[in-house]
Amino acid sequence: MTDTHLQDYIERIAHLIRSETRIAGADFDLQPIQQSALHYLAHANRYSDTPQAVTEYFGLTKGTVSQTIKALEAKGLLERGADAQDGRKVHLKVTPAGKKLLKKTMPARTVTGVWADMDEGMRTDLLVHLKNLLQDLQRKNEMNAFGVCKTCRFNRKTGDNRFFCELTQEPLRPAETELLCREHETSTA
Ligand code: SF4
Repeated sequence: MTDTHLQDYIERIAHLIRSETRIAGADFDLQPIQQSALHYLAHANRYSDTPQAVTEYFGLTKGTVSQTIKALEAKGLLERGADAQDGRKVHLKVTPAGKKLLKKTMPARTVTGVWADMDEGMRTDLLVHLKNLLQDLQRKNEMNAFGVCKTCRFNRKTGDNRFFCELTQEPLRPAETELLCREHETSTA
């Protein structure tokens, strides 16, 4: 086995999933990037739901992201909200219609099918390996990690169902610890 096999498997899997979600999105007149941005924003925390974060996450130009956001707003799937502290900052929130649409199109049906066929041990092993692979690739690319908050080294548990971000010095709601964050740093503990 070689590193080419690794790349081939990753590309093939990504391509298969993307083809299926592209077809599902087309039923709702959604382009693949619009669907992906909507999916990302549905899982992004309050530090990561900005146009700038979407740009970084997908490695796209500002112009493309701006067009994508406008199209999603025009379809009633996304709305802008002001930041409570910084009037220049915009937060992008997926509307109830957007969430409903995502439920119909993601995850891809074949992913759900494969997942259902696995036992709990297989699921855990697979996700651990994929998570580690993603983190290694992000480290080598020197990109922002965009990891899940609860696995971040800045996430501190302060009590029963109470969490605190040591980076931003703000409390976190339990549900927020399940979301993606652009400031995430992997815990070494
Ligand atoms: S604990 Fe980490 S992932 Fe969570 S909000 Fe703070 S910086 Fe982001």
